Amino acid sequence: MFFQKDIETMPRQKIEELQLERLRHLVKFCIDNVPFYAKRLSDAGVTPEKIKSLKDIENIPYTTKEDIRDSYPFGLFGQPLKKIVRLHASSGTTGKPTVVGYTKKDLDIWSDCVARIVMAAGATEDDVIQISFNYGLFTGALGLHYGLEKVGATVVPTSSGNTAKQIMLMQDFKTTGLVSTPSYAQHIAELIEETGVKENIHLKLGLFGSEGCTEGFRDRIEESFSNSHNKFFATDNYGMSELMGPGVSGDCIYRTGMHINEDHFLAEVIDSKTLEVLPRGSQGELVITTLTKEGIPMLRYRTKDITQISYDGCQCGRTTARMSKIKGRSDDMLKIRGVNVFPSQIESVLVTFTQISPNYQLVLTRTHSTDELEVKVELADGSLLEKFTELDVLKTNIKKSLKSTLEISCKVSLVEHKSMERTGGKAQRIVDLRDEVK
Ligand SMILES: [Zn+2]
Repeated sequence: MFFQKDIETMPRQKIEELQLERLRHLVKFCIDNVPFYAKRLSDAGVTPEKIKSLKDIENIPYTTKEDIRDSYPFGLFGQPLKKIVRLHASSGTTGKPTVVGYTKKDLDIWSDCVARIVMAAGATEDDVIQISFNYGLFTGALGLHYGLEKVGATVVPTSSGNTAKQIMLMQDFKTTGLVSTPSYAQHIAELIEETGVKENIHLKLGLFGSEGCTEGFRDRIEESFSNSHNKFFATDNYGMSELMGPGVSGDCIYRTGMHINEDHFLAEVIDSKTLEVLPRGSQGELVITTLTKEGIPMLRYRTKDITQISYDGCQCGRTTARMSKIKGRSDDMLKIRGVNVFPSQIESVLVTFTQISPNYQLVLTRTHSTDELEVKVELADGSLLEKFTELDVLKTNIKKSLKSTLEISCKVSLVEHKSMERTGGKAQRIVDLRDEVK
C-alpha cells in the first residue's frame, strides 16, 4: 500500500532530477538564511550555479553533531522563531542537547514521510496503534503519532512505562499495532507471557525504531507476540532528530532494506576515516542532506550510523533506494584488542540460543593493558537454574560461537532471568570501564 504512490514509484532518473533541483534550491536557501552555512559554502567556493550534477554535492563540507551543539540553541536555524512552530531536542550525554526546529511546512512533510513508511509496513486506517515511545522532547513518539493519524489509524499515546496498564489497554482496545523500541517490546512480551494473557492479544504489526535490532532478535519478538489467532510482523524504521525524526526510511512488507524518502533526503555513504564518498553498494557511514527542511536544514549531515544502500527496484513497486539495517554506530564500534566489534554482531549470535533471552550487556575492562570483554546475558527462564552441567555446556557453546563470529575470545556470564534492568527507552548495552582502570 502506498501513501503517495506517484512519488514512491517515480522512475529513478526522475527522482535524481528532483533531488538535483532541490539541492540547488537548498544551497541557495542556506546561503540566504543560515550565516553558518553561508560562510562554510563561501569558504568551499560552492554556489547554487556550481551544482551541475548530484556529484557536485561532494564539494559541500560535512555537518556534524558538534556543529549543531556549538550553535546551541538556534544558530543553525533557517527561519526566525516566529516561523518555527515546534522545537525538539535530543538528549546529550554530556552538556547541552542538540535542538531542532520545525516550520508548519516541515511538520506537514514530516507526517507525510512517516505516513509513507507506516503504510509501506502495512499500517491502515483499520489499525489501533499504541505508541510506547516516550512522549516529550524526543522526536520518536510525536513523529509516529502524526504520521499514523494521517493514515487514519487510531492512535493510543500510551508513552513508555507502566507496562501492566499497556497490556490491559492492548486487550481492551484490541490494539493491532505497537510502536516501541525492540527492547521495550521484548519486555512487554515477557510480561504478557507471565500473566498468561497471550491469547487475548491482537497485535499484528510492530513499528520498531530508535535502537538497532538484529533479524534474530526481531524473529524472537515476533514469536513472542504471535498466538493461535494472530501472527505478529515487525518492521524497522530509521530517522534521527537532527534529520527530522522518524520518517527518513522504513521497511516495506518485504523487509529487504528500508526505503528512503529520497525526495526529501539525499543519502550518501562515506568512509568514516578518509571521509571519501564510497561507490554505490559499499558499507560505510550514512550521510544525509535534508532537501526540503526549512527549520534547520542539514547539508551532508554525518549520522555516524553504518549501513549500505541498494538502488535496485523492490518487489513492493517502490523505486526508492533501500538502506540496510544499521549495523552499528561508528561511535559504538568497540575496538577490543585491536579488533573492530559491533554490538549487533554479538546480538546476532546470542539470539540463536533459545535458552537465553535477548537481554544482554557488554562489559569492557582493561587488566594489565589487555582489553577484556564480558558478555552478560540473561537466562530465558528459571528452568536451567540448578542444572550446573547444562549451564556450563551452554556457556561454552555461546563462547565458541562468539569467538568464531568476533574472532576474539570473551567471558560469558549467565545471569538469572529478569535480573537486568528494563527501561522504557533504549537499552544500555555497553558498559565500557576501560578508561576508569589506571
Ligand atoms: Zn519495498
